[in-house]
Amino acid sequence: MQIPFHRPYFDSDEITEVTEAIESGWVTMGYKTLDFEKSFGDYTGLSNPIAVNSCTAALHLALRMLDLSPGDEVIIPAMTFAATAEAVCYEGAMPVFADVDRDTHLIDVESFEKKITSSTKAVIPVHYGGQTCDMDSIVDIARKNNLTVIEDAAHALPSYYKGRIAGSPGDIGCFSFYATKTISTGEGGMVVTGNDEWAERIRRLRLHGISRDAWKRYSSEGTWQYDVTEVGFKYNTTDINSALGLAQLRKIDFMNQRREEIAGKYNAAFCESDFFHPYMVLPHNSSSWHLYPLRLNTDALDITRNSFIDELSERGISTGVHYIPLYRFSYYSRFAESVDLYKNTEWIFERQLSLPVYPSMSDEETAYVINAVMDIAEKNKR
Ligand SMILES: *Cc1c(COP(=O)(O)O)cnc(C)c1O
Repeated sequence: MQIPFHRPYFDSDEITEVTEAIESGWVTMGYKTLDFEKSFGDYTGLSNPIAVNSCTAALHLALRMLDLSPGDEVIIPAMTFAATAEAVCYEGAMPVFADVDRDTHLIDVESFEKKITSSTKAVIPVHYGGQTCDMDSIVDIARKNNLTVIEDAAHALPSYYKGRIAGSPGDIGCFSFYATKTISTGEGGMVVTGNDEWAERIRRLRLHGISRDAWKRYSSEGTWQYDVTEVGFKYNTTDINSALGLAQLRKIDFMNQRREEIAGKYNAAFCESDFFHPYMVLPHNSSSWHLYPLRLNTDALDITRNSFIDELSERGISTGVHYIPLYRFSYYSRFAESVDLYKNTEWIFERQLSLPVYPSMSDEETAYVINAVMDIAEKNKR
């Protein structure tokens, strides 16, 4: 059996939507994108959804709202994708890495608070795997220190924290529709913010700083006139991508339910086993299960994480590692004082791999993964 790490869930609905976009003759940002933004807002209840071409662009535009200067610092977890740090560097600011919690892989609140200096301007909590960070504590600490809270919600459509949807507790939220994320538009992202002025500025900045969207220029109510108010970006999405997003949003509840079922089967198989350290979802959180982290108990197993991945691969199962800590990269290492400060991040990195979890996985495929994991563990027990 061959089980890829991810398969997007597309059916005839996506094909119909995309065909419509193509046949309309307007393939760049236009009516489908407006529809997608509206549907996203209706589904999530989040304010001012602004579609862009990636979550990296979303994070960049969010950080632009702070008008950062060189020397300014932005705190992010060490255990995240490079995009989180990259966006901070785009703005000439310095990413400062906080350690994460061993059980949840979420930014450790104490470590975050310790990293705050007079130069800190913002914090980017990353809702790892689809579980929301401790937003009450993070927002509270941020308010006391005059920091902006930008949620990296790339994994978190939708995730709930004490009943509130991810993207709402912070000042700005950034979502991803990359190929492997919970819904996919091929490539894409969404910014949300309760700040109407920021929303207006982000809408302009995503398209060259132009004061009216291009589609309005060419529609009957538009004129050829527009202004450029500041240096913008080419971060707009297209109606082809948004057409995919519209179809994906219509099946989002089904897709989430299916990932939850698969994660539930994994939990039942692995959480009671001595071979693994159970990954914890806190009782006040409900995860989107974008990732299913498996953590090897290296005291009970005589096999490294890397060999475990190889053995699964030999059985046709593709996995991932989320993530290589940022300070281990040659570029980002310059922002870390010492690896010793990241005890939990290192602990996780040594033991973690991500198992396939996506709606088109069948029960047979799920059982095949469970059997393979247990069999490899059994054959390598100490
Ligand atoms: C995927 C991802 C991003 C970037 O999303 P893109 O849409 O690919 O730009 C940012 N942060 C995290 C944590 C991610 O997993």
